[in-house]
Amino acid sequence: MKTNLFDLSLDELKTFVKELGEPAFRGKQIFEWMYRGAESFDDMTNIPKSLREKLSEKSFLGGMTISEKYLSKIDETRKYLLQLNDGNFIETVLMKYEYGCTVCVSSQVGCRMGCKFCASTVNGWVRNLTPGEIIGQILCVQKDLGQRISNVVMMGIGEPFDNFENVLRSIQLMNSPDGLGIGQRHISVSTCGLADRIRTLAKMKLQITLLISLHAPNDERRSQIMPINNRFGIDELMSACDFYIKETGRRISFEYTLISGVNDTLEEADMLASLIKGKLCHVNLIPVNKVEESGFSKSSKARIEEFKARLEKHGVVATIRREMGSDINAACGQLRNKKSKQ
Ligand code: SAH
Repeated sequence: MKTNLFDLSLDELKTFVKELGEPAFRGKQIFEWMYRGAESFDDMTNIPKSLREKLSEKSFLGGMTISEKYLSKIDETRKYLLQLNDGNFIETVLMKYEYGCTVCVSSQVGCRMGCKFCASTVNGWVRNLTPGEIIGQILCVQKDLGQRISNVVMMGIGEPFDNFENVLRSIQLMNSPDGLGIGQRHISVSTCGLADRIRTLAKMKLQITLLISLHAPNDERRSQIMPINNRFGIDELMSACDFYIKETGRRISFEYTLISGVNDTLEEADMLASLIKGKLCHVNLIPVNKVEESGFSKSSKARIEEFKARLEKHGVVATIRREMGSDINAACGQLRNKKSKQ
């Protein structure tokens, strides 16, 4: 098995070259080439040919290629279908904001969480992505765009906390000043609510932003649309969130997808407010995006505004998430591990 060099930290890369019988400083040189966008070992002109040959015997770079690229006509969003070394596909999205470029990365090929409104889980789970495959998405987009990526959101295909170790490693790699150099506060991770992992993360006291996909204010409704709720109910989830806030001092974002006739009554807004009142948090309302298999539809614009106003009346800060790239199926919950019908 060849090693994907993007799975390695700088120190590990130094050890890797030492094991090939070379001095450690070569590791640093290779690392710099990798993050400057070298595509092959032959691009690394200050590395002796003999080492380049050894490297290509034992390792490879990146492990993914752009298979398709879709450009939104409504905004500057781009969606990439990337093919991994083993033939599997994932999707990655680039969003442009006035403050910089954000990449939405996938953490798994497929997903096994089974949320009823989400396209990423329709074909089930295939495998976890390696840390190198997670950051490889950022590098791929950065290169294609020719602009630095300043923010990362782990909100693509997969449940990040179902691939916890690799996701944590990928955050360290993103964070590395010699590598991508993306600050923790510019990294966001969204989870459907694996409460045990939220607690583990809390103890690490990272400065990343945590988002919780809540989507319903009580167990009965949440279990109907999110099977994970049968494993970690709302009480357990809320107490893990309290613990996270206490340990990190960071504000949590609760994501609430508004689905017409499912979770969008004003009584549900009241329940949601009383559930999270007093927490250091804010609510991100997401009008549900179309996923053919789900049959769900968006709440009306008026209802979304009423729902938001109702939360605000209770003193809860709420925003409505801007839809991006919905014409290319690049919006929340629309990513899949196969070619999408446009
Ligand atoms: N598995 C993680 C990461 C996915 S993030 C999680 O569940 O948080 C994507 C966000 O979009 C989540 O909040 C998810 O619940 C939400 N989402 C999924 N399907 C959607 C849809 N059809 N419309 C709007 N949001 C959706």
